[in-house]
Amino acid sequence: MGGMCGCFPRRAKAGVRDEPAPDCVFCGIVAGKNPERVIYRSERLVAFPNIRPQAAVHLLVVPHAHVPNTDVLGAADLELVEEMERVGRELLAKTAPAGSELKFGYHVPPWRSIDHLHLHCMALPHTPPWSKVKYVLPGVWLSSADLAARLRRRRRQRPGLLQQEGGGGGEAGTAV
Ligand SMILES: [Zn+2]
Ligand SMILES: [Zn+2]
Repeated sequence: MGGMCGCFPRRAKAGVRDEPAPDCVFCGIVAGKNPERVIYRSERLVAFPNIRPQAAVHLLVVPHAHVPNTDVLGAADLELVEEMERVGRELLAKTAPAGSELKFGYHVPPWRSIDHLHLHCMALPHTPPWSKVKYVLPGVWLSSADLAARLRRRRRQRPGLLQQEGGGGGEAGTAV
């Protein structure tokens, strides 16, 4: 594995949700490896700077649970997604130059370098400038706002589903 999150295509592993994965770098950080890198820790999230920043400030917010990707998220995960963005915004407010343009989002399968959900929180500009392709292309990049809107829509359309999803169990592979 190259670095923290270059986010180049990589085949998805069969997604076992929430179980810590022994070879997952982010599960390692959650478990307390590299404590010097962690800039935020709460009951269900940690945040740290991307080891290969591609923006003026580039942080990652990660849930403790080994959630493989955005495809497995359901209506019950709306609060998690909102909390991830809120934490990212608070951290950028402290670390990014005032007035920076901010960007929050995810890489969609298979365009990820690590099979552990991570929100990219960036203060622009992108560095180098061409790297922005990965953070705009539909089908590669999913903004945090679009993901939250999708989960909100699902919650409205299928309120009964919330019960089943509540256990945090697998609704792996749900079509989007
Ligand atoms: Zn990524
Ligand atoms: Zn993990």
